Amino acid sequence: MEMSKEVKVSVPEIYGSLVFGDRVMKERLPKETYKALHQAIEEGRSLDLNVANTVAAIMKNWAIEHGATHFTHWFQPMTGFTAEKHDSFISPMPNGTALMEFSGKELVKGEPDASSFPSGGIRATFEARGYTAWDPSSPAFVKDGTLYIPTAFCAYGGQALDKKTPLLKSMEVLNREAVRMLHLLGLPEVKRVDVSLGSEQEYFLVDKTLYKQRKDLLFTGRTLLGAAAPKGQEMEDHYFGVLKPRIAAFMHDLDTELWKLGVPAKTKHNEVAPAQYELAPIFENINIAVDHNQLVMEIMKKVADRHDFACLLHEKPFERINGSGKHNNWSMCTDTGINLLDPGDTPMENLAFLVFLTATIAAVDKYADALRCAVATAGNDHRLGANEAPPAVISIFVGTELEHVLTSLINGTPLESAENSVMKFGAHVLPAFHKDNTDRNRTSPFAFTGNKFEFRMPGSALSCADPNIVLNTAVAEMLSEMNAKLMDVEPEDIEDTVRPLLKNMLMEHQRIIFNGNGYTDEWLEEAKKRGLPNLPSVPDAMPSLISEKNLALFTKHRIFTAEELNARYAIRLENYSKTIHIEALTLQDMVRKDFTPALFRYMCTLETEILQKRAVLPDLPSTLEEHILQHMSSVAEAIGIRIEKMEDDLRKAESIGDALSCARFYHDVVLADMDALREEVDIAEADIPDSELPYPTYAKLLSSAI
Ligand code: ADP
Ligand code: MG
Repeated sequence: MEMSKEVKVSVPEIYGSLVFGDRVMKERLPKETYKALHQAIEEGRSLDLNVANTVAAIMKNWAIEHGATHFTHWFQPMTGFTAEKHDSFISPMPNGTALMEFSGKELVKGEPDASSFPSGGIRATFEARGYTAWDPSSPAFVKDGTLYIPTAFCAYGGQALDKKTPLLKSMEVLNREAVRMLHLLGLPEVKRVDVSLGSEQEYFLVDKTLYKQRKDLLFTGRTLLGAAAPKGQEMEDHYFGVLKPRIAAFMHDLDTELWKLGVPAKTKHNEVAPAQYELAPIFENINIAVDHNQLVMEIMKKVADRHDFACLLHEKPFERINGSGKHNNWSMCTDTGINLLDPGDTPMENLAFLVFLTATIAAVDKYADALRCAVATAGNDHRLGANEAPPAVISIFVGTELEHVLTSLINGTPLESAENSVMKFGAHVLPAFHKDNTDRNRTSPFAFTGNKFEFRMPGSALSCADPNIVLNTAVAEMLSEMNAKLMDVEPEDIEDTVRPLLKNMLMEHQRIIFNGNGYTDEWLEEAKKRGLPNLPSVPDAMPSLISEKNLALFTKHRIFTAEELNARYAIRLENYSKTIHIEALTLQDMVRKDFTPALFRYMCTLETEILQKRAVLPDLPSTLEEHILQHMSSVAEAIGIRIEKMEDDLRKAESIGDALSCARFYHDVVLADMDALREEVDIAEADIPDSELPYPTYAKLLSSAI
């Protein structure tokens, strides 16, 4: 028998092998250069050109050793994807040979033609110049023969055109306010507070050949048509199920590729819906975690292709089964190793914990609408509020233990000690262990999970930068308000001043706390009574992005200028309308060019069948054929009416000038037209033989990845 060809990988050997990270830099850079670079990163200063030249030369040699011939400034424009333009290292010599060169200037600064990236009106196409600037705090790496240099991207006028710049700014602001607070609380040894992020990534895998037969998946990432498969997720047998061999091989390959790039892929499992999976990394510094999540999404697609799968990252690729999210696990950690959201054994005595917890609760309440905006996309609209995802209303789950803490803070009463927290299975052979101090609440959009908050609203395709820019800035703002009140308080009076301050803040913001089931209609009613915003769609949410309150937040902390924020508002709305426009055109194409011809062919078969039967044996009944034919004929009529309505409305949509009204129209009218059309097509599809259908069915797609 042939031996398995599987090559064993030594993880410690490959881990980070394609990354120009700290280990390589320490090994290869002159001591002085290494020190200067580190200082620049830690203190957030820009780099001296001499240092940059030395780093560039050594980085280039290392990259060439790892197969690179090119370098690219890798950036994250407002498309939500990454962008790259590759330049080779070659420098031709007069004698016909070539040197491989890479200067400090090339490392530090790039000048891509920026005219074709979304700018929201910040720059016209004739002002093509944009700049990319090296972000030395996220390590460079080699991928497919190119040295990738993480960079920030801005316009000639200095306006940020990307997602990294505001993220870095929000980290700096949070760091500044958090350190100030910790110094006031008597922890002068803390020099830095970093934000940590672990982002769980959900995705679907379908067979590549079938994927290519569906224009909707190819052009829009989701199915626009499709009758339900006989079996969906109702048996609840996929979640955590055994990994099928083809899936396991894909996941193994994916982990290996990610580990080489220094992405700490940790957990993999089957998700709830058929053909749905999840990957969770170990948390990291948020800037690196955001870059790594972009790599995760990209490598997932690449490795899937190699295994003859297509990886779907859309938030709702299939109707009637779960969509995909990206859980954003977020915390703050000091350079002295304290997780500021870790309650410890005696949370009531842990003043820093109480302060950072309260600041987060207050931030999420006050800026719930901005957070909601950050995750509002055409794709995610299909998910939020559907019964597998959190509702569009933001609330916080804290769990019973923390609820006791908050109550005793508000009432000034001692903490009721938790009851028996030892977990017993009942069979003695099993170990006894301490229970976590919170249960899991899967229905809450923002849940405390022991020593971090998990924001569950982000959609699977989103850049993690978006929600975290808001979260970091909002928490920094609450801390800065508290700092202002504590600034002149004598150290011995701090504690007595902080506790009433926390009490007041909690009383003001406790409406955001909800520990019940977030999927019920009762909760939506209750949320309305509490005055919590319910913003179910992009056009509902987006106006609050530029509200006076949110504009004040972002401009005060210099995350966005008013111009930049307005640009982002315009881009988001435009992106929404364009997405639905493309979806409607794809649906139109599929129905007119593929589906109705198939429907007519099938009707023709039935007609021929009936006629032939009559010709041969006039007395034989053909009730079934006639019924199906009548049914198909009436559905065909309805399809005709509905597609014409959609086409009319699409023309109307194109003539609406105002971005918000246009998005509203796409949401209220065009999406509704698409749903109505789909309804009829799906009814017909369910009766047409698979062999006659112009595209593979849900049943085929969802069972193809095995
Ligand atoms: P779940 O049960 O929600 O599926 P897991 O516990 O498997 O999640 O994963 C939670 C995620 O939270 C992981 O990516 C983990 O690295 C991350 N995480 C753990 N601690 C922190 C922290 N202090 N800050 C940020 N993320 C964290
Ligand atoms: Mg989770």
